[in-house]
Amino acid sequence: MNTIVTLPAEILRLIGKLNEAGYEAYAVGGCVRDALLMRPTHDYDLTTDALPEEIHRVFQGEHIIDTGIKHGTVTVITGGTPVEITTYRTESAYHDHRHPDRVSFTRSLKEDCARRDFTINAMAYHPDAGIVDWFHGMNDLQAKVIRSVNDPKERFNEDALRILRAVRFAAQLGFRIEEKTAQAVLDMTQDLQYISAERIEAELQKLLLADSPASVLDPYRSLMEVILPQLKDDAAWDETMRRIDRSGRQYAARLAVLCANVTLTAADLQKLKVTNTVRDTVLAIRQYRDLPFETRSDLRKAMYLLDRAYPDYLVYRCAVDKYSDAERLEELSGDIGRDDVIRLAQLAVNGQDLLDLGYQGKEISDTLQKLLYLVMEDKVSNTKDALIGIIKKR
Ligand code: ATP
Ligand code: MG
Repeated sequence: MNTIVTLPAEILRLIGKLNEAGYEAYAVGGCVRDALLMRPTHDYDLTTDALPEEIHRVFQGEHIIDTGIKHGTVTVITGGTPVEITTYRTESAYHDHRHPDRVSFTRSLKEDCARRDFTINAMAYHPDAGIVDWFHGMNDLQAKVIRSVNDPKERFNEDALRILRAVRFAAQLGFRIEEKTAQAVLDMTQDLQYISAERIEAELQKLLLADSPASVLDPYRSLMEVILPQLKDDAAWDETMRRIDRSGRQYAARLAVLCANVTLTAADLQKLKVTNTVRDTVLAIRQYRDLPFETRSDLRKAMYLLDRAYPDYLVYRCAVDKYSDAERLEELSGDIGRDDVIRLAQLAVNGQDLLDLGYQGKEISDTLQKLLYLVMEDKVSNTKDALIGIIKKR
């Protein structure tokens, strides 16, 4: 494992600016962990002893967003990316399993690290001081372990989302969950019900996009059943686990694979707070899941019917169909290109042509659709003469 943290110049600039103004400032949490693992980081967090209004003063004239200010977070947009700068804080007295009753600022970096969820997320870094690691996150990174900072039951009791985060990080990083932390996850799954659907969905997405989600979905099925109670009815769970691991890393496809053996309505997906696109994609996959899916003309029809949901549909079918040859289907899909007719707009006749022939209303769309199918099945060539010939024959 890497022991050097390389930060982008823009992040170093922000740290430097706070230091020049007399404040401590460190990169912290996920970005330090990811740098050590040499994984790409998508968001940088800085932690500082400067109070929010002091952070403001330091970055006066720069692009600042204040959305999190009551929790002590100021976001500075630098080089086009938002960087969250948060005042050192401790969180105390949680009563509803999700919000600290009050956020107290502190002057101690150690206290700020102690409020973080897992040891691998509790490290800070400064270019001069190096890595600050009170909770032995480095050891756990090396050993590939997710371990709660301090007593897991207490920490999960403060914020139940951590239960799901433990499982998500284990899947995402390919780590195991340390024994006591794992036991707390299993003992406290029900507490996840206190957490908002939005926060759960964000974690679920990261979990399902891991290399091998089954490695955690299987041992923590009970946790998944709090999120998606219908999974209790999956009588072929082992098969679902095999499918999900061989499925391409696409969220809607994997969600559809996960729920392939159980009922799942639009309302269920709405409740889960997935985006409308993901919801519609999952529903389309389910609607068309039994289409023939073998030949070039099958695939063309599927592309027509599924439209934007097709890429996820393909992933789903490759994972779920018992006898499918995924490689062949992917190749065939990629091969279907400009020369293939898969949309009504590509047809050599249009509504006006049918109107001219005396067709009306719904007849027109039905006939166009039939012609499209014949073309997709290679039963007629896509020329005006050929298509009008067919119409006239009828
Ligand atoms: P990701 O790669 O998904 O961004 P992350 O670890 O950076 O992972 P964030 O949600 O961006 O996760 O949070 C940044 C840091 O804030 C974490 O590394 C952790 O130190 C702390 N943190 C986030 N959520 C919690 C939580 N629920 N409880 C305690 N600490 C948290
Ligand atoms: Mg992050």
